[in-house]
Amino acid sequence: MLTDAPPRNSNLAGFRESDRLTRLDLPDDASLPAIAKSIESAMKAEQIARVRSACAEFLKAALQFYRVPDCSVRVLASRPLRVREQWTTELFGDYAPETMVIRVWMRTAVRKEITSFGTFLSTLCHEFCHHLDYRKFGFADSWHTRGFYERAAMLYHHARGTPLKHLVWVPISGGRWRIDWPRMNRSAGG
Ligand SMILES: [Zn+2]
Repeated sequence: MLTDAPPRNSNLAGFRESDRLTRLDLPDDASLPAIAKSIESAMKAEQIARVRSACAEFLKAALQFYRVPDCSVRVLASRPLRVREQWTTELFGDYAPETMVIRVWMRTAVRKEITSFGTFLSTLCHEFCHHLDYRKFGFADSWHTRGFYERAAMLYHHARGTPLKHLVWVPISGGRWRIDWPRMNRSAGG
């Protein structure tokens, strides 16, 4: 995971705010984890219609909790050739702010390998967090800041029912950050 470079224009204040916003309110019930489980079993059975309806249900529950305008989700069998997200790390989904449509796909483009459940759910949460950036937090853009990844990770670990790992960052050039995996894995193991 790699953050975007800070913008050079008037959006810099919003970017910094997104970077600092490292927490996301989470539901205190188990509805999202329960729906995530049904996504997992539908994926295992390779029943795309069930995956679709479970994803729509997941989104509906999340929209209600965060009180944001509706967005919709399209689950595609495989990755489309043209992908909106410009970040090369995003191979599994995208979000269009104008139409408020999330797309996630079950197979990668080239080798047609099935996306793992963890990656699929993480992508769904990631794209939903783009929706929250525009519609809940009112950011002018939805940058991949450290705060963004923290918020997406909180939602993902809540939905997956796994303990939240704090992300450990190291600075790289251009004001960007990347995850320090060796340090994260050490702290998880220790
Ligand atoms: Zn993204």
